[in-house]
Amino acid sequence: MVIIAFFVGHWVSSIFSQTFFLHRYGAHKQFTMSKGWERFFHLLAYVSMGASFLSARGYAILHRMHHAYSDTPKDPHSPTNFSNVYSMMWATKKRYDAFAYRREQPEPRFEKDVPDWPLLDRLSQNWVARVTWLAAYTGFYFVFANHWYLWLLLPAHFVMGPIHGAIVNWCGHRYGYRNFESDDVSRNTLWFDFVTMGELFQNNHHKYAMRSNFAVRSFELDPTYQVMRVLNAVGIIKLRPLRELDEKGELIAPGMDLTDAESAETADAAAE
Ligand SMILES: [Zn+2]
Ligand SMILES: [Zn+2]
Repeated sequence: MVIIAFFVGHWVSSIFSQTFFLHRYGAHKQFTMSKGWERFFHLLAYVSMGASFLSARGYAILHRMHHAYSDTPKDPHSPTNFSNVYSMMWATKKRYDAFAYRREQPEPRFEKDVPDWPLLDRLSQNWVARVTWLAAYTGFYFVFANHWYLWLLLPAHFVMGPIHGAIVNWCGHRYGYRNFESDDVSRNTLWFDFVTMGELFQNNHHKYAMRSNFAVRSFELDPTYQVMRVLNAVGIIKLRPLRELDEKGELIAPGMDLTDAESAETADAAAE
């Protein structure tokens, strides 16, 4: 029971950090918060993702490329470019490493205004730190795993981030339904995305990248947005109205526009 709770806790906290901090804040800046809270959630992302923490800068660059080149040959992780999920993930890792380890310079528009914390990046990329995380997970299993089959869950803790990335990037552009016609092949995989906290509303999200609620239709539910409403109400974050973003012409991310951008008025009207 303790192991199941630990597994679910790690799964949920890791994907929450990915969607809330790395994706909606880091890559899209759908909301603002003070520098202090930004550091808090950045650190929380490191603790919750642990061994498979992703650099916020590396993630933002790769993700903005995904929106700009969605499902074309220049998309860093489109399932249309690969025969299976493993080759897609391996290619994604190589592209991500190039930016996370600063070996390659991205187009300037992709790195504008990202939450950059080089010291935390270096710590998370340090092999002693990584092995310490793996040892900590294994130690926890030694103490609490009272059935042999529970050990089958252990490897998932080592690669929690890539597991979530594989589910979202593969399934979200392959399986499910579409609310909006678009040039990409994005889909909404679940009506209530309890698996990846809202990330599987890819079709809605590709249509309205700056919209903080990934659910659009009345029967859809985006759990992370519900948490964000609470954080907004208590003043920890400040959601940015689509109208403000539209005035700045930033409908994908800071400094980036959609080539076929519709006005936020239209986005609002279609979404409500
Ligand atoms: Zn996508
Ligand atoms: Zn996005």
